[in-house]
Amino acid sequence: MIIKKRTIDYKYIGLEMLYQRLPDEHPMKKVINSKILSAKAGIIGETIVEEVFNKYKFPFNYCVLHDLNLSSNGKFQIDTLFICPYYVVVLECKNIVGELSFEKEPPYLKRELENGQIDGFESPEVQVDRNIYLLGEWLSVRGIDIPVMGVVVFNSTKSKIVNPPDHTSVIYATSIPVFLRRLPREKEYLTLTQMSDLAHSIAKAHQAYFPYPMCKNWRIDPEDLITGVLCGKCGRFGMEKLKAGWYCSSCCNIDRRAHERAIKDWFVLIKDSLTNKECRKFLHLSSYQTSLRILETMNLTRFGDNNKTIYKWNWLEKS
Ligand SMILES: [Zn+2]
Repeated sequence: MIIKKRTIDYKYIGLEMLYQRLPDEHPMKKVINSKILSAKAGIIGETIVEEVFNKYKFPFNYCVLHDLNLSSNGKFQIDTLFICPYYVVVLECKNIVGELSFEKEPPYLKRELENGQIDGFESPEVQVDRNIYLLGEWLSVRGIDIPVMGVVVFNSTKSKIVNPPDHTSVIYATSIPVFLRRLPREKEYLTLTQMSDLAHSIAKAHQAYFPYPMCKNWRIDPEDLITGVLCGKCGRFGMEKLKAGWYCSSCCNIDRRAHERAIKDWFVLIKDSLTNKECRKFLHLSSYQTSLRILETMNLTRFGDNNKTIYKWNWLEKS
């Protein structure tokens, strides 16, 4: 039974928004683009694993949770968690193609592409070990005793494992059902009610994580970003506020709600608060009143009065 599905990838959304507002000649433009590609690959990998669980039904009782952010002795992120009365398995999903070698001392994942290019990634084995430890701690403070295991899942056979890790299982997504079915089911650690309660309490403990503001995380000066309102039709910045709505002088598009995206960009990219003055500068508005109307109709949280008013985005309500 699927208890929690994957949700929106906030990091990926933030990277796309950042990329759009970075000028072409900015030194970070290429870096952000490559981060977008790897975030996309990650999402594809996790979605493939999610599909396996959607299609396949196991011949015993179980619960599946995708995309969890939890904290015990530290924050941790689990791609997919499989819970049954006999054991709990952390699945670490990877979408990295090429010849892969689990290197030791220090541990990292070495990848060689067909064209000879070599690069490295954080060791999935270390990630799994850390998640097993932190989830074990999370369970133990709640008095739950059950074996916790982990497995690294690559989503396609284009990932050729030439040097597997010593003590962690590595499988392809298509082998997930066989792998989980073959794990020993001799001792029942949880009753059905306990298993269901545990799955729901983990889902409840999940905290959405917003990796914002992006400029701070990527050490980019907010002053470097392109300001103005984006035209959704032709992709140019600098729409002009007229009575009828936002007007694009390039393609003559009129959009009454074009400012909404720009306001969201501010909170995702620049800062967790916004003043009337900052809003005018970012949206290219000259009127205090127009800026005020926009801020007041965006369902933001307002703090302070008059000139000292600041507005904040309600992430959990309107992400
Ligand atoms: Zn336009």
